[in-house]
Amino acid sequence: MPPFSMPDNAPDPRVEKPRVLFVGGAMKSGSTLLGALLGQFPGFFNVGELGRFWVEAASGEGRCGCGQSLDACAFWAGVAADCRTQGVDIARMSERVYELDETRRLGRVLTRRFRADVRSGWDELAAATRVLYASAWQRSAARYLVDVSKLPTHLLLLKEPPPLEILLLHLVRDGRAVAYSWERTRQKRTGGRGAGSVRGHRWAGSDVFVWALQNFMIERLGRGLSGRALLRYEDLAAAPRASLVKALETLGIDPGEGGVDAGSLRLEPTHSIAGSPQVRFAQSGTAVVPDDAWRRELGTARRRAWTLLAWPALKRYGYRI
Ligand SMILES: [Zn+2]
Repeated sequence: MPPFSMPDNAPDPRVEKPRVLFVGGAMKSGSTLLGALLGQFPGFFNVGELGRFWVEAASGEGRCGCGQSLDACAFWAGVAADCRTQGVDIARMSERVYELDETRRLGRVLTRRFRADVRSGWDELAAATRVLYASAWQRSAARYLVDVSKLPTHLLLLKEPPPLEILLLHLVRDGRAVAYSWERTRQKRTGGRGAGSVRGHRWAGSDVFVWALQNFMIERLGRGLSGRALLRYEDLAAAPRASLVKALETLGIDPGEGGVDAGSLRLEPTHSIAGSPQVRFAQSGTAVVPDDAWRRELGTARRRAWTLLAWPALKRYGYRI
């Protein structure tokens, strides 16, 4: 299915509930790449971090992976129009989602108290999220919407009734690589309130801890979903097609003949929101080189310290200690 051919369609009158392939996990795990690869399989439509739509759209600075601003991209302009028609205030949802993304709330996400504290805002955001996903899914005319929103808070939102059909692809990357990535780069959000607030500000040890916590919560929240599969970034990088096919089959999806080639990490543009700009705005056919600089550049002392901190989770996901 060509990603750039549908846009100004009115919403498809399909009445089934949206089918979402949700990529969950910790930040800096390679989810933008995973979304871009999944989006190349027939019947899959990669929307990127759909949970960030409100922030990207409200800021007026968000850009789609097709290269256009969200206002100019016919796909997202249509989605925004659907939301407004159904009474959703995009700017207010941007505020709500910013509150949710605060890292300090992470430990409370699974508690009843968390939802009680943010109940009114939570309900409104959950209802708007329904409208957003239904619109994107209908306009995509795809079998599956690929959403790489990742974070536990967003998965929790999607689990609010009425249910979507959610398949969880849990992406895990070695926590030491994630912490190193935080240390090396500073994440800058594209505009909106809180721009740049989620950055590599923490002590690396706390990055390791947040990594383990986010993965733990994704596992917990995955219970009861229509399907779950685990995919390690390192396996994806080593054998792209084989690892993706295996993950999709675990989810009960027949990947068919199309999609990425056996050893290919080549990118194709999709109508995706947020995430790594190097991946999203790469020219068609650009090959990604997997990033494992931490193995060479992290000194022995820190490597040992981080390994100790990440030990239980590393072991759980089959990493060599
Ligand atoms: Zn676009």
